[in-house]
Formats: sequence, structure tokens, C-alpha cells
Amino acid sequence: MGIKSLSINDIEERAQKFRAIAKQYPSQQSFAICSGAEEFLKTNPLAPVVGTICDQQITAEDAWEFPYWLYGELNQQEFSAQAICKLGKLRIKELLQVYLEDKWPLGMLESDREKYLQNISSYIIHACNYIVKSLDNNPDNMFKQGHYNVPQIYFILRALPGVGPKKASMIARDFAQATGSWYAGICERLAKLSRIEFKVNRKYLSEVPVDVHVVKVFGRVMGEFRNTPPRVKFLDYWPDIQNLAKLTFPDFPGKLDEILWDVGRKYCHGRQPDCPECPLQALPCNYANR
Ligand code: SF4
Repeated sequence: MGIKSLSINDIEERAQKFRAIAKQYPSQQSFAICSGAEEFLKTNPLAPVVGTICDQQITAEDAWEFPYWLYGELNQQEFSAQAICKLGKLRIKELLQVYLEDKWPLGMLESDREKYLQNISSYIIHACNYIVKSLDNNPDNMFKQGHYNVPQIYFILRALPGVGPKKASMIARDFAQATGSWYAGICERLAKLSRIEFKVNRKYLSEVPVDVHVVKVFGRVMGEFRNTPPRVKFLDYWPDIQNLAKLTFPDFPGKLDEILWDVGRKYCHGRQPDCPECPLQALPCNYANR
């Protein structure tokens, strides 16, 4: 079973069905956060940087709402890289711990929670230091040339502490399709303050950010496995996923991520996937067909 047992026609059939299913998926992030947090991500240039750094292991909703919560905790005082640096790592860690008290994912070990708090607070401070020293305290200065292609955005973001390959390709994909609060905020500020038009071209160079949901759904649909392999094995699936994305959406390969990620969160649960309700059941999905 698995990719080795699928002919090119079988793969093409799945690609075609993915394209049909994609029409149901809006070109927007498929998670919802409160309107105040959404607006803050748009109007404050540091907020999306902090949200991106937090976006691992916890839910995307909790990660992206944290900057707005933090702003409230700081009595809506200045929310800049310089101000965050002044608070220091220990204070950021304490605040993150308070915020996440009732939000930790079920089953996340105490030791992993502590590791998350240590790492993320440290990344936030390092990223803020970088923004103060290299970008004159303004994250928008990363994009002041205005016009970029997708790989350029990827590497600009990779320079930020706490932003790894998955997060950088996720944001580069959003920028390529001109969506998301961060993108909208940069466009507005650069146009208003410097008359710079922010634009990201060569959408066809976007990639699928590979995470647990993407690997899990891809592997089950293609019959590669029943249970998701450990993270260290994810890279083994990277070329197959990127090539399926290019075959399916040659103009915008990153589009495949929207479907895989959303299905992974809503239907394709680790232990009991909800195949009867899943839009990929008739793809056909090898796991569901068993
Ligand atoms: S049909 Fe079932 S196994 Fe296949 S992707 Fe959907 S939820 Fe996962």
C-alpha cells in the first residue's frame, strides 16, 4: 500500500478531486479569533510577529490571540519590540503561563509545557532584540523594499528568532495570496507612511508548510500509514507532499495546505478520524476505504 501502489492515474484522480474540494475552501485562514485580536494583528506591527512565534504546540487561535491579551495585561501601554525587551524574558514567561493556564492541549506533559514557556519567551525576547537592533524597532522595515517574491519573504522571516521553516512558509503562503491581518496591516502602513506598495509575486513558488495535520492527512489519503509517524520522520514525506501540491495547484501549490490542515484539525483526529463526515472520504482516501 501507499504511494508505491498508486499509478499516475490514481494520483491524478486525487489531484483533480482536491481541486474540486478546494472550491469549498475560502482563501482565508480557517480559524477564527476575536475581532479585537484580529484588529490588533492588523494595526500593530509587532503583534503578528509574537503570534507567529507562539504558533506551535498550542492551538492557532490561542497563539494568535496572545498578543492582544498581552497588550491588555500591559494596560494597553506601548506594544513595541523595545517595550517587550524592557519587560525581560522572565516576565514574558510568567505572563504566557498565566494566559495558557486553562488553554494547554489535553495530554500535553508538564515537562513539555515548561519547555514551551521557556522556548517561546526566549524566542520573543530574541526576536524583539533583533527588531530593535536590526530594524530600528519597526518590524515593517523587513519589507520596506516593497516588492518581493515568495522565497525572499521566506528567508526574510527565517531570520527572525522563533520562526522556523514551517512558520516561514505558512506566512509566505499567506502573503503570496494577499490574505491575513499581517499582510493587510503591512500594506496599509507602508502605503500610508512611505508610499511603498507591498506586493508578493511568484505565487507558484509557494510551498505547503508541513506540520502534523498535513503529514497525517496526506499519509492516510495516500495509504502510507494509519498512525502519524513521529516528528523526526516528517521530512521523509516533504518531497511527496510538495510534488502533490505542484501537481494539484501548479499556480499556487500552497493552496493544498489549506485543505490538509483544515481536514486534519476538524476530521482526521489521531485516534478516531471522523471519516463519514470528512470531505476527503471519496477522494478516495485509502485509510477510509479500509
Ligand atoms: S477520510 Fe478519514 S482518514 Fe481520510 S482524511 Fe478524512 S478523516 Fe482522515
